[in-house]
Amino acid sequence: MSDTIFSKIISKEIPAEILYEDEHALAFSDISPQAPVHFLVIPKKPIATINDIQPEDTSLVGHLYWVAAQIAKQKGVAEDGYRAVMNCNEYGGQTVYHIHLHILAGKPLGWPPYQ
Ligand code: AMP
Repeated sequence: MSDTIFSKIISKEIPAEILYEDEHALAFSDISPQAPVHFLVIPKKPIATINDIQPEDTSLVGHLYWVAAQIAKQKGVAEDGYRAVMNCNEYGGQTVYHIHLHILAGKPLGWPPYQ
């Protein structure tokens, strides 16, 4: 897989507002927030899209949700609620081909999410 901007955030070649880091995952604020709280949780392993998740990655993907919930609690948005979304490919609106969980919070969010 070719390098993405997220690989450079993982390697600290480019800066990000890092919210959480462990051996397997990294979370940082989205540079173009679409809600009062908007952060991304990514695996350190570069997986291009949801379609590329392998059986051995399933606990890693579950870990991303756990990380998301810890940060949501820290930010005080867990009780009110939030949206966790992972876009896939062109129709899903994916622009960075390194899977990432968007967490959007801080106000009631519209549904359905498409226009
Ligand atoms: P997606 O369109 O689902 O692939 O989401 C990519 C997200 O990455 C967008 O919400 C961007 O605002 C965000 N993004 C792109 N570059 C950066 C960056 N350098 N730091 C933080 N977020 C970024």
